[in-house]
Amino acid sequence: MNLADSEEMAAHLLTRGYTQTDCLEEADLAIINTCTVRDHAEHRAVSFLGRLRQWKREKSGRRIIFAGCAAQRLGNKLKKIFPYLDLVSGAKEIDQFATLLDRSGLFPTAPGGTLSTQGITGYVTIMRGCDFACSYCIVPSVRGPVQCLPSQIILEQVRQKAAQGYPEITLLGQTVNAWQEKNKTFADLLNEVSAIDGVKRVRFVSPHPIFVTPVFLDKIKQNKKIARHIHLPAQSGSSKVLQEMKRGYTREILLEKIFALKELGFSISTDLIVGFPTETEADFEQTLTLVEEAGFSTAYCFKYSPRQGTLAAQMPLLCEKILEQRLDILLNRVKGLAQQSYQQQVGHPVQVLMETPNKGRSSNNFWVQTQKNYTIGTIVESEVLQAADTLLIVRD
Ligand code: SAM
Ligand code: SF4
Repeated sequence: MNLADSEEMAAHLLTRGYTQTDCLEEADLAIINTCTVRDHAEHRAVSFLGRLRQWKREKSGRRIIFAGCAAQRLGNKLKKIFPYLDLVSGAKEIDQFATLLDRSGLFPTAPGGTLSTQGITGYVTIMRGCDFACSYCIVPSVRGPVQCLPSQIILEQVRQKAAQGYPEITLLGQTVNAWQEKNKTFADLLNEVSAIDGVKRVRFVSPHPIFVTPVFLDKIKQNKKIARHIHLPAQSGSSKVLQEMKRGYTREILLEKIFALKELGFSISTDLIVGFPTETEADFEQTLTLVEEAGFSTAYCFKYSPRQGTLAAQMPLLCEKILEQRLDILLNRVKGLAQQSYQQQVGHPVQVLMETPNKGRSSNNFWVQTQKNYTIGTIVESEVLQAADTLLIVRD
């Protein structure tokens, strides 16, 4: 989501005469596009802003923009602490970013270039905000309620991305599969997007397990352009904790959905939180066994971070030592997952979208090396000969 928002901000600046650089020393403008999901992420962004004081002093005319979810949460009080900050642009204001730039009068208005096509995936935001109220999560309060973009606009953006040469489209949203329109579901949208000329593969992130239903699976199962990988955040393996998190599913229901996805050839990665305030040793054990039972291809594991204004922030915290121990144990448990799932691909057919002449990503999201060279952006159908750590070698 932040990548897509960064691209959108960059596009507005490019039309005002800026060019992009990865080198801070060369830059006249620094944008810090932030996350506030965990305290640590916000803290890092704010510390970086602190370090930019010296950078700004070194050359006159340098500008700093603080954007995204931490900007939304902290608002203009940041300007009091960091008076050299030029513009605060919260996550909810992304649609008004150009107006904010113009209104500040701090940025040039000279016409410039457009964003050059980079990479394989074109990101298209299809919805913003979240209507859930998971008890640990700050997103609904910083991003607001769900707003779905009309399919007409989404499809036009996909057409543009395809015309720019992106063979893969990734649809984005906080609960991306909550997208709907009068007579259209998310599955219908996926099918329409993949029918656009030039679109060879479609991914989406982050889906909520609730909307992974038999009807959804039935509608997409014939469509091979929809990548066979899903990042499905489980959060916990304990039904009791899931209920206290207000996730809206139990461990058993989640596993049912996971098995149904696997039947269709999906690989599944996930997010897991350890140390939710009410998590007991037995609950934590359930998360460990979920990892085994679900056969995730990878898992991102987080220590619970209390966020102001959320329901869980009012609950007494577990001690830091327990959080660290549990995170350590879980990280050890998930360490081997990737290698294991790469090994399981040996002997299976694979469909690769080439990202370099001899390397690409399979539909189910594994890195693949080919023996011959191919044009970037083409699809290669092959069979996996062997797995070398986290790389598949194919017969081609
Ligand atoms: N909407 C997605 C879903 O329903 O699961 C997840 C989006 S959330 C912004 C990204 C991930 O951050 C979550 O899956 C969760 O694991 C993690 N996360 C969110 N709040 C957290 C918190 N307070 N402490 C630790 N991790 C958190
Ligand atoms: Fe946060 Fe996702 Fe829950 Fe929404 S559905 S509150 S974004 S974890």
